[in-house]
Amino acid sequence: MASGAAAAALSLGGCEAKAPPPTTTTTTAVLGPPTAADWRRLRDSLAGTLVLPSSAAYATNRLLYNSKFADPRPAAIAYCVGADDVSRCVDFVTRHEIEVAARSGGHSYGGYSSCNGLVVDVSRFNSVTVDTKANVAKVGAGTRLIDVYNEIGSRDRLLPGGSCPTVGIAGLTLGGGVGAFGRKFGLTCDNLRAAELVTAAGDRLRVNANKQPELLWACQGGGGGNFGIATSFEFDIHPMPEVTLFTLQYPWGSAADMLQAWQHWVATAPDELWSNCQLLSQGTYGFLAQIGGVFCGPPAALESLLSSLRSSVATAPSSTFVGSDRYIEAMKIEAGCSALSIASCHLATVNRRGVLSREAYSAKSSYLDAPSGSAHAAKLVHAVQTLKDYAPTVGGGLAFDAYGGAINRLSSAQTAFVHRDKLACIQATYSWSGYTSRAEIAAGQRWLTWLGAEVFTPQSGAYQNYIDPTLLDWKTAYYGTNLERLIKVKRAYDPENRLAFAQSIPVHL
Ligand SMILES: Cc1cc2nc3c(=O)[nH]c(=O)nc-3n(C[C@H](O)[C@H](O)[C@H](O)COP(=O)(O)OP(=O)(O)OC[C@H]3O[C@@H](n4cnc5c(N)ncnc54)[C@H](O)[C@@H]3O)c2cc1C
Repeated sequence: MASGAAAAALSLGGCEAKAPPPTTTTTTAVLGPPTAADWRRLRDSLAGTLVLPSSAAYATNRLLYNSKFADPRPAAIAYCVGADDVSRCVDFVTRHEIEVAARSGGHSYGGYSSCNGLVVDVSRFNSVTVDTKANVAKVGAGTRLIDVYNEIGSRDRLLPGGSCPTVGIAGLTLGGGVGAFGRKFGLTCDNLRAAELVTAAGDRLRVNANKQPELLWACQGGGGGNFGIATSFEFDIHPMPEVTLFTLQYPWGSAADMLQAWQHWVATAPDELWSNCQLLSQGTYGFLAQIGGVFCGPPAALESLLSSLRSSVATAPSSTFVGSDRYIEAMKIEAGCSALSIASCHLATVNRRGVLSREAYSAKSSYLDAPSGSAHAAKLVHAVQTLKDYAPTVGGGLAFDAYGGAINRLSSAQTAFVHRDKLACIQATYSWSGYTSRAEIAAGQRWLTWLGAEVFTPQSGAYQNYIDPTLLDWKTAYYGTNLERLIKVKRAYDPENRLAFAQSIPVHL
């Protein structure tokens, strides 16, 4: 896993002019805005399906996961079935100078997988092949996480990923990929050993540690939608460990004490222990303080770790759950799908048998560099209580995901994912339903803005997969010391900045 990334980094060490631009700028005749006949020609040239606004399927097919993006109205959505389809789409948008956005799972927090032009949807690239001898899995770029876990898990292997079952593997991997097995096996992007992409010039490339190593490096956390449209990924996979899940809930009055104890606990925890800590305002249901996680090992081995956590919080937990489970069942619990079949654990708007619904939410992220003192812990708890003052019925709060372990053993430059020295990522969210008033939704946004200004300062980075359209210094927050190198990769592979959106890597600083 790290060897590919390390080789990529080494091959570039200190050599600015060495990265060989694989594509030269192409001069393509510009034809002006596409006419109906142009769209028909594109449709006829694709092996997949082109959905135009006149199609009955358009109303559903244009939707993203976050229902707050009520109105993405692309000129067309191309459901590609092969890399040639993707190349044709790229050629089409170049000739007609229209916007393009790649879409895998459609979960971008900024809605950046839609645009006014052509959406290149890769969801039909959804096959997973597993080689248990080489411990490698080839995964189509539109595969949803629940299918990745299920297919790889059925061969007694795992790929570390995230929690949400309907997230697409492309967005997750290209921006990092943080989840329950990250401390043990690294981020999803750390396990990426090769990828197939169509560049902005329409070229089909296979990238690995030897071929286009800089592009592989950029695909390991440099953010989705920036360097090409991926059609498949090759990952290192790992033998399945025994898995034990746990949750400890505490009375809200001891939330600050719990948060502080959790931070010290995860700072010295073994790689086998992944954990997150949640402080939530649940609207009319009050507040929730809990620590949960996944341990790679048997319950008995977890018990001594939990007892050291319990002894460092003055109050006893109000409830404790510890249970071992099969990996795929554990992932279904993490995904909120424990009572569902794999086929049902999909969005109803995307899969015929899917029963999950889209959600409406806004979010903001930051990082903890080291365990905070009691004053800072109290400030974070107070911030969650403040959400209730702003918006009494919306649910939301702060979730802290432990980093460390294998995540932090790579250096910041080894992959494009720069956040390698953090104790934990903090994600602030609030979500609402169709019954929430506009005034309360707006108040929730004011809470996030206040949080960004008053609580997440100084901004110690932000997670690029929790992409935040309201973040001002987003380039530094997402990419830090890797930004300049990412810009060089962008210039090499997309010199005309054809793959562009509000927070895409620019071609110049
Ligand atoms: C409910 C929920 C839970 C989440 N949980 C986690 C978690 O546990 N861990 C974690 O790390 N993250 C998590 N995330 C964040 C998630 O990783 C990002 O939102 C991710 O970008 C989503 O990927 P996607 O493919 O579903 O989204 P998309 O919206 O399809 O894509 C995201 C970005 O990648 C680009 N892109 C899509 N496909 C391609 C492609 N084939 N080639 C190149 N670029 C492409 C898009 O243009 C867009 O800019 C969660 C998000 C949600 C909504």
